[in-house]
Amino acid sequence: MDNESFQKMKLIIIEEFKDEHKTIKFNHKIYRLLIKKLRRKLKRQQLAKERDEKIRLEELQRQNDPLYQAWIIQKEKTRLQKEIEEEEENKKARKSREQREQMELQQQQKLTKERVEKQKELLLPAKTNSPSHNPFATVQDRITASIERPVCSFYSKTGVCRYDERCHRTHNRPDITNTLLAVNMYSNFEMQYGLDNEYDFDIGLEFEESERYENFKDFFYDVLPEFERFGRVIMFKVCYNSGIHLRGNVYVQYKTDYEAMQAYKALNTRYYAGRMVQCQFVNIPSWTAAICGLSEFGKCPKGRRCHYLHVFRNPPVKSIEKEKKSSRKHKRSKSRDRSHRKKKKKSHH
Ligand SMILES: [Zn+2]
Ligand SMILES: [Zn+2]
Repeated sequence: MDNESFQKMKLIIIEEFKDEHKTIKFNHKIYRLLIKKLRRKLKRQQLAKERDEKIRLEELQRQNDPLYQAWIIQKEKTRLQKEIEEEEENKKARKSREQREQMELQQQQKLTKERVEKQKELLLPAKTNSPSHNPFATVQDRITASIERPVCSFYSKTGVCRYDERCHRTHNRPDITNTLLAVNMYSNFEMQYGLDNEYDFDIGLEFEESERYENFKDFFYDVLPEFERFGRVIMFKVCYNSGIHLRGNVYVQYKTDYEAMQAYKALNTRYYAGRMVQCQFVNIPSWTAAICGLSEFGKCPKGRRCHYLHVFRNPPVKSIEKEKKSSRKHKRSKSRDRSHRKKKKKSHH
């Protein structure tokens, strides 16, 4: 890419940004971020081009291999077979559900009829005992429905699902667990204004030294002690996914349910950095299953749109005390900010 077209692209993205964010005052910081973003985008495009070419060549080689061809056919056959089986299973489930519903309906009609007749006998008004007012009926329905629907694998692994209540699969919402999820609690400048496109966080090894990581470290050393006031934190994970159900999520696992409950009572609906903290209990059976394994190496093909957790690497905990001391010494203005924030917190409730 020559300099002239780079300059042109630069002007275009600046105009686009100004158009989209009319209320934000354009400054040098934003300018620098936009330029960085453009550079990364161009680098990414270049890398993608090279990768595609490589994949194309490998594909050509493979397609000529008879063993490979046999394998593809076998795979396709298995897939089709599986689809047919699943379809069969669905049909069966649907049929049995319809039958059961039919039976329940008949049963209910019978009961209603009996009841009405009985009421007639006793000369009582029929309204007071109508079956639609029976609270147990709805509970029963709900339970049977959840048995039939398969479990949502995203929800059961990460405690959240992009479809939330609208999901067609079952979400087994836990009562109280030892793990709290503070929804969308972490944010930074780029996340706030949508300057953080798909792959940006994953690309390059400079990440750990970047401003973004410094920002996360500040958050980590500020927030972890807050959670530790209520007990021993055994896992602390902050997401940088871009999907709204995962964006900035903070997962805090305590040793016991009791500690998590205490933290929930104290922190839910309090304010942090001007935003309300919304906590919920989640059940994470395995962190390895919840966290995207490929993200660690920057190799996840879905990038930050992945539905498994892409998390920041936690900085060393041992240095928390040191970090706190040094921030007390050097960042006077910042600590004043924090105490101000704490006061605000206390005034809430
Ligand atoms: Zn779901
Ligand atoms: Zn991923």
